[in-house]
Amino acid sequence: MKHTDISSIELYKEGQRLEQLEHSEAERGKQGALRGGNSGCLTETGQPIGGSTSCPRKAQARFIGLQVPASSKAFPFFDAGYANEWLWEQKLAKSWKGKVLTEADPAGGTKWTIEGVDVTGRPDIQLINEDGTVEVVLELKCKAATNSAFNVGHHDRPDPSHLMQLAHYMFCTNAPGILVYSFRGKGSTSYWAYKETGIRDIEPFDREYKLGWEGPNDDHLYYIRDNGEKQETLITKTGIKEYYRSIVVATRNGELASKPANITETGSKMKYSSCQYCDLKPICKVAKDLDRFKDELEVMIGDKK
Ligand code: SF4
Repeated sequence: MKHTDISSIELYKEGQRLEQLEHSEAERGKQGALRGGNSGCLTETGQPIGGSTSCPRKAQARFIGLQVPASSKAFPFFDAGYANEWLWEQKLAKSWKGKVLTEADPAGGTKWTIEGVDVTGRPDIQLINEDGTVEVVLELKCKAATNSAFNVGHHDRPDPSHLMQLAHYMFCTNAPGILVYSFRGKGSTSYWAYKETGIRDIEPFDREYKLGWEGPNDDHLYYIRDNGEKQETLITKTGIKEYYRSIVVATRNGELASKPANITETGSKMKYSSCQYCDLKPICKVAKDLDRFKDELEVMIGDKK
């Protein structure tokens, strides 16, 4: 028997491309809603807290149906994220006595309304008790790059965007949250990380941060670090609602939503600005109003198709 002419890798890549097309089609149907994946929070002084993905302007682009397609370079990282979620679902289904509600389950979605606009979301996993209440909501993040794994694993630094996204789902489900980072690789740390810490290798790990609410009206988010220390934050339920409200109001006024401030959830300065690695950076450099932002985005989306 002769060998096959079929390339398994080409088939996989084509499947990946079709999967992303289906995703983009599904996204188009959600235009006019705000999304949990774009969660953010305003501080008491109205500054949007920064993070790897949180930006009122990115949320505004999605709100008006102009999401820039992901680069094919990001596909392997998406796949690693899906695989990580699947692994957690399988294991928790064996160990948790109640129901494990996943992102794919139609009952797993969240929805609330601000200024007449729906804010929808899909938490990764909700552990449901026998009486139907949510025991805890989980946000799972797969670390695929050694440098970002090292940031969480060694420096104990959760991403403010991930904290705000989970805080949003906690507020929707009225349950506490756990943010979990998983790294399934093994490798050498960077020269700079080695110089700073003396640590040469990074091994597989899972790290969890437990999140809860405290203070007046149970409005302030705190989390427990891996070493057991409590960390207070600037993230509030009020600030999450105000973040989404600011996007609706800006859009209705024909204005561009704000840029993220250069601050983390603790009020400290971000190590890197949220704009630094953003695909929309060239657009934000030139667009001073919503119309120009839309025009530039449409060109970028057309070029990427
Ligand atoms: S460049 Fe900055 S302000 Fe513009 S969309 Fe990206 S993160 Fe937001």
